[in-house]
Amino acid sequence: MRPDPIKRIDTAFFWDACEQGKFVVQKCEPCNTLWHPPRPMCPKCHSVEKTHQKLSGKGVIMSWVRQVRPASYGFENSPFVILVELNEGLRIVSNLISDSVPVIGEIVEVDFEKTVGGKSVPIFKRVVD
Ligand SMILES: [Zn+2]
Repeated sequence: MRPDPIKRIDTAFFWDACEQGKFVVQKCEPCNTLWHPPRPMCPKCHSVEKTHQKLSGKGVIMSWVRQVRPASYGFENSPFVILVELNEGLRIVSNLISDSVPVIGEIVEVDFEKTVGGKSVPIFKRVVD
């Protein structure tokens, strides 16, 4: 089982949303910039006035890797680690739940996987036409 996420003051909104099955990022109020991972201020204009925006959860695989050493603590196998460019333009590092090798350019969609303590973390799966 996956370890629980560690909630901090700037990341609690993200993990709370994941528990509700929502994929959200921070959005700057003055300049509308979206960013991830969470941080206290806008990376573009440095404003601390922010809100949250729900994303489509869809994107494209930009890169991937699979570790060849033994699986990390909490994992039975080493999942594929993927870099996803989301439809909204942000990039996120996550896991692809699949037995077959990822292909760059494949369309993926967010899903949520339970952790050992019953929390949820975002992972991705292929979008099947
Ligand atoms: Zn801004």
